Amino acid sequence: MADDDKLFVDPWSSSNILDSDYLRLIDEFGIETINDITRERFRKHKFIRRKVIFGHRDLAMIHKAMEMDKPWAVMSGIKPSGPFHLGTMTTALEIIEFQKMGGKAYYAIADIESWEDNGIPYEDAEEIAIDNLADILALGLDPDNAYIWRQSKEPIVKDVCFKVSRLVTQNMLNAIYGEKTFGLYLAALIQCGDILLPQVVDGPQPTIVPVGIDQDPHIRLTRDLARRYYKEKKIDEKIVQEEFFLPGATYHKLLPGLDGSDKMSKRNPNSYFTFNESLESIEKKIRGALTGGRKNRKMQEELGGEPQKCMIYKILMYHFEEDDEVLAQEFEQCVKGELLCGEHKQTCVERVLKFIKHHRKKKEKNIDKAREILNLE
Ligand code: SF4
Repeated sequence: MADDDKLFVDPWSSSNILDSDYLRLIDEFGIETINDITRERFRKHKFIRRKVIFGHRDLAMIHKAMEMDKPWAVMSGIKPSGPFHLGTMTTALEIIEFQKMGGKAYYAIADIESWEDNGIPYEDAEEIAIDNLADILALGLDPDNAYIWRQSKEPIVKDVCFKVSRLVTQNMLNAIYGEKTFGLYLAALIQCGDILLPQVVDGPQPTIVPVGIDQDPHIRLTRDLARRYYKEKKIDEKIVQEEFFLPGATYHKLLPGLDGSDKMSKRNPNSYFTFNESLESIEKKIRGALTGGRKNRKMQEELGGEPQKCMIYKILMYHFEEDDEVLAQEFEQCVKGELLCGEHKQTCVERVLKFIKHHRKKKEKNIDKAREILNLE
């Protein structure tokens, strides 16, 4: 994704981001690393504890609000362009974990973006949105402490988009996103509306937006425009800056493709699986996943495996092993050559299929609720 001089992140193509690039991103775009103190403060958050979330902006504001028992928001969303998969699950669980820690959840169904990016008409996106929302409800999002909207039906996000647009030039958007269609630029400005919505709806409050690192351009744009917009308002309407919080963010590392390709991509069906595909197909893809194992049993026992390179270990660590101790034990056994890839894959297949079967039952029960929330009964 990067040339030698400039690191360029494209939110619409899920750029392949190498490990070395994460450090450069932190450096070049002013992202803060999660230090030990922050990790300890947010220990309950699985992805922070496990270092999947590696960076943030203004997470300290959330900690302060928690300590002072003040309201705070966690905001993110989904582009309804297909069924849930491991990538969308990461963001969904991040929101849920923050919600469990006391934040009110704000969840955008980005149907304007799915039109602009994928050409999916709003009507077609409706059924996908119901499906996606039922997934996140089944994963544990509490709808009673959440605000959920479709971009195309939410006047607030359009209103914010128009208001901040007067501060934007084509050059600015070009510098952040590269040359894109005007529709994608517009979708980026609509996302500013999404990110600022919690404070428009429920008043000033610290907001955290959990995203993959590829979405940072949206965060930077929103923070820049919000800063300038409120600065202007302060002059015009004598509104003090303290009455508004710049939205913060957490950044997680993106999962590479299951088969060892750079990224999970629809163009490469073996690189990922969705929650809706057949159990046989899911099993086949997991069995075909790249491991960090050696050529044969003897070498594995002698040299040990490389779990840090292994997709089986990664998907267990992100999603399918809740117990930190089991995870640590498996890592150690792998490194010592005491765990073989065949048996570990078998365990992984069993855990994933068990999860999917259970999840589908819970999801089924949430379809009507999802329709009701989206006013699509
Ligand atoms: S033993 Fe498990 S963690 Fe280690 S390389 Fe093989 S599949 Fe991966």
